[in-house]
Parts: sequence; C-alpha cells; structure tokens
Amino acid sequence: MSDHTFSRRAAILGAAALPVAGLVHAQSQPTGVVISSANRNDGGIHCCAKALEVIQSGGDTLDAVIAGVNIVELDPRDNSVGYGGLPNEDGVVELDASCMHGPSRRGGAVGAIRGIKTPSKVAQKVALETDHMMLAGEGALRFAKAWGFQEENLLTDESRTQWLIWKRSLRDRNGHTFWESGVDAPPAKKAAEVEELKKLFPQYGEEFLEEALENALNPPHGTINCIALNEKGEMSAVTTTSGMAFKIPGRVGDSPIIGGGLWLDQDIGGAGSTGRGEENLRVCGAHTIVENMRHGMSPREAALDALKRVARNFDNDEKRLAAVDLDFYVLRKDGEYAGASLWGPVQGEKRFAVASGSRPSHHEPSVYLLARK
Ligand code: ASP
Repeated sequence: MSDHTFSRRAAILGAAALPVAGLVHAQSQPTGVVISSANRNDGGIHCCAKALEVIQSGGDTLDAVIAGVNIVELDPRDNSVGYGGLPNEDGVVELDASCMHGPSRRGGAVGAIRGIKTPSKVAQKVALETDHMMLAGEGALRFAKAWGFQEENLLTDESRTQWLIWKRSLRDRNGHTFWESGVDAPPAKKAAEVEELKKLFPQYGEEFLEEALENALNPPHGTINCIALNEKGEMSAVTTTSGMAFKIPGRVGDSPIIGGGLWLDQDIGGAGSTGRGEENLRVCGAHTIVENMRHGMSPREAALDALKRVARNFDNDEKRLAAVDLDFYVLRKDGEYAGASLWGPVQGEKRFAVASGSRPSHHEPSVYLLARK
C-alpha cells in the first residue's frame, strides 16, 4: 500500500494557517477546494480549474462542479463521458449522471439517457426542479427536451469506428465472426488485425486503431467525478459517464446511483467513483466512505476501507480481482482529500486532479490497496 497522505486543511482553512502578511492576502481572495478524477487530455485539470473559478467568483458549488464536468462531457476526445462516449452494444450512446447539492441536501440523477450531451445538467434539473430523485431512459430524454435541451447524435466517427471494431472482434468458439469476410478466415493475430483495420479504416492512424482493438478486447470504462467545497463550507458533487463500453442497452452503472457512484453530506464530506460500477454498487461505495468519515476515518482510510470490502467480495483473491478497476475520490468538509484506487500504480495513471485557493489545478497520485505485479 502506498503512503501518500493528503492533508490539505490549510487549503480551505487557508487564512488561519498563514502568517499575518499571508492572512491579509488570503482573506481578500476567496478560497476553496475542488477534486476530480484525472481523465484523458487533462480533463480533470480543466474541470477542477473551471469549478474553482466559478466558486471563487461567488458561484454556487453545484453550478461549479457541473460547469467543470461539462468541459469533459462536451469533449469528443474523452470516450468515456458525454459526447463521443463509447456506445452500448447496439451502437447507441447511453449516459448516466448524478449530482448532490450540499446546502439544500437535494440530489438528482439520470440513467441510460440518450441524445443529450450534458447529462449532468439534466441531473441538476431533476435535483432542483422536480420532486423526484432519478429519471431514466425515454422519460429522462423527454424531461430534458421539456427543459430545452437539444437532442443530438452523440456518436462521433471515432466512437462509431471503435464500436465497429468491437463488433468485428466478437467471435464464436471457432474464432468465426460474421463481421469479417470469408467463413474460412482464421482469427487474425493482433498485428495482422491492425494491418487489416488500416485497410478498412484508412482515415485513422495506427495508434487509434491499436487502441480501438485493445478497447474491443478489453472494453474500457471511464467517468468523471468532481467534488467542491467553498470557503463557507458548502459542498456539492457530480458524477457523469457513458458507462461501460459496449454494455447491454439499458445497463445503468454506479454513476447515477446516489449513494453508490456519488454521495455527499456537507456536514461530513463527499465521495464519488470511477471504474467498475457493479463492484462499487456491491459495497455502496460513496455512502460507505462518507459514513466511514463520520465515524472518524480520514478520507484516505475511509476509501481504502471501501476498497477492502470490494476485495473481500472476491475472497481477497487477487487473480479474480485483477479484472476489476475501481477508484474513489474523497473530499472532507475541512478540505482534506484523497484519491484511492483498488490497483496501483500503473505507469502513473492512478492519479486525480485537485485545485484549491492555495494551488492551481494539478494532478496528485492516488493511494492504492493492491499493487499490480
Ligand atoms: N463507473 C462507471 C460505470 O460503471 C464506469 C467507469 O467509471 O469506468 O458505469
């Protein structure tokens, strides 16, 4: 287990921890803390920077985290969130999102919503403008349209191509697939397959095709979770995702499950997750973590305890657990935070993003329960 501890009381209590000269300076600048998952293309960095900017200009903490994750939802290059997310097995993008607003203690979620680029904003509408907690599928889309959201095709050429490559990778026990010409064609070796893909999709470079093939063989997942705290002690949080790539249509993961992929009680703190939602739901991760903190654990201990429960569900069998990836992000009401992963470290990819009044948006390493050999 790694031993990074993230005590950042000073980040939010800022002024109190500084000498007098710093105190005057700090008091004239509103502070705050925002954390998020890392995401590709520095998505987490941009998300936290934006959310902090909203907080520091006096905006509401829920508006802040939603504005932050909107950047990633709208970025077609992040194929795990919003527009450009990898689709379900029918080639249709279905999104999940949830949010919690600390001051009003309200929450809202949408599950398996199609055609809306920013499901987090729809979840916010559910939280603040309805008497319900969660809307799913067709009803969620109709609700979004009633509020003026535009229905759009969320599939990009890249995500559609990745889906086609996934279809081609599906084989029967003899190695045959209907998505390749020639019944006798033996299953291609990976390098030969990439060569074949280059001919089929000449508009894409080798790197993209290799990644698409890897994604087909090991369907990826990804999400963004973001939690914020302002100088008044108000907190909000959001989780938004396109869920597991090539999932069964209608599959809803942990991200929109309030208590699973997201939980926040601003008297204590908030937590959220990315990774294999099914395993998180079996330990009700985000709620478990916040309750752990209520009973005195630090953010780091609280998250590692939840991850231990996941490991326990596999009888701590590391071979079976190897197929599971799960990450938590935790922010306590005093500004202390942690990122925690089931597995680490993998080439430095187990990290999360943080921005605060005392340090601009940056990555920090997550702690982890198990070390990949
Ligand atoms: N937690 C998301 C889900 O299971 C996916 C992910 O974060 O990788 O839908």
